[in-house]
Amino acid sequence: MSHEDRTVVTCLDASGRWRPARLTLSPLVIGNSNNEKTEGASPSQTLVIGNSNNQEVAGLRVEFLEGAERGSAAPLDSGVVTGGFTDWHVHLHLIDPTALAGSPITRVHDLGGDPASLAQLAQTAQTASLTGAEPNPARPPEVLYAGAFLTPPGGYPSDRSWAPEATYREVAGARDAAAAVREMSAAGASAIKIASNRDSGPVFSDEVFLAIVETARAAGLPVVAHAEGAGEALRAARLGATRLAHAPFSERLSDDELAELAATTEWCSTLDIHGWGEPTPEHEVAVANVKAFVRLGGRILYGTDMGNGPTPIGLNPRELASLAAAGLTPEQQIAALTPGDPRSPNATLLWVPRDDRGELDVAAARRLLADDLNSLAM
Ligand SMILES: [Zn+2]
Repeated sequence: MSHEDRTVVTCLDASGRWRPARLTLSPLVIGNSNNEKTEGASPSQTLVIGNSNNQEVAGLRVEFLEGAERGSAAPLDSGVVTGGFTDWHVHLHLIDPTALAGSPITRVHDLGGDPASLAQLAQTAQTASLTGAEPNPARPPEVLYAGAFLTPPGGYPSDRSWAPEATYREVAGARDAAAAVREMSAAGASAIKIASNRDSGPVFSDEVFLAIVETARAAGLPVVAHAEGAGEALRAARLGATRLAHAPFSERLSDDELAELAATTEWCSTLDIHGWGEPTPEHEVAVANVKAFVRLGGRILYGTDMGNGPTPIGLNPRELASLAAAGLTPEQQIAALTPGDPRSPNATLLWVPRDDRGELDVAAARRLLADDLNSLAM
């Protein structure tokens, strides 16, 4: 089979619409262990796949079918193609991050760790993707991070064994708040994490919380809050946090409260941490909150708190099952996984098969490889 190899698939575009697309083997682009590359005329037209053995390899490329071409062939009904998935709440210092290589999770957002080692991990991952030193099936995920938890002196998680000193930054007052945000920003953070757990020690005063929010906003960084304890989710949102690290689990919120949160915050789901398959009362509360939050227009981001307890390394089928229990359709689960743009030159593509009832089996998502093209075209 040649470059003419092609098949028409259903593909999710970057704005979340399903579109017919043509999947082709791209021109060859070879990377090798010396970081030399032989590229086509325009790198943006090709998918760069490196191979440490310097063998010839070809990448898969997605083109959306437009206008007259649309409908010229029926998209496959055996599954769909998407860009790679993101887990919006992980702790890389609590797992072996190399175990994520090859996972459908192609980007992770660390929400509490040592900023210096996270910056290093992010750099390593970026180098691997740019040099093509890793073959595509094992490419490590892109790493985004908030840096250290900002917490008041003695606040959560400074008392936890899983939180070594560099993973939290105690903030003593409003002036120190600005300094702490600048430290995380200088370390390359893409968000600021506030610990606001009133069930375990002190939480920030409104004044200090606001000072963090204002400095973060000026630096262009969203504030993600771990809100725990009665009233804390709503307080964090009213003080300017725009993302909650966990779907609220301390109390069943009213529709009025949830409508307010739906308008001002997005939530990392983290439903599975409540029992890891043996649901606790908090699981029930969080699922009920998510269900109403979504009905009221709220946005859920798939997040597992990977590293917190016995969470699987990779896509967590129990998190997806909990999202389904909260009423999210497979399509809504995929939206929560925020797939990357499948057309970007360095995209990792995923195959999400349909089950025997014709429903998308999100938990079975896996990386799409050049070898798959023949079987898909049949
Ligand atoms: Zn966490």
